[in-house]
Amino acid sequence: MPASAGSRAPAAAPRRAQPALDPLGDLLAVTLEAHPEAVTDILAKHVDDGRGDCRACTIGGQRGHHTWPCTLHVAAARALARQAGAQ
Ligand SMILES: [Zn+2]
Repeated sequence: MPASAGSRAPAAAPRRAQPALDPLGDLLAVTLEAHPEAVTDILAKHVDDGRGDCRACTIGGQRGHHTWPCTLHVAAARALARQAGAQ
């Protein structure tokens, strides 16, 4: 059994821990990087409502809310991570 094939800790930033974004969400994250106040606002409003849904993102009408974390929350969290990494 080869002893050298152990697990290796990632040396770069832990970006793999974040959920995947679609191309629009990725573009949103890049855009939000330049607007820290918007990132803070989104992260404050788009929170888990305690039932696994986003408190801010409605599906429409009385049908309820999107599952949390929503695309906006993920994009804002990614923008925040990029801002932190850029400093
Ligand atoms: Zn949301």
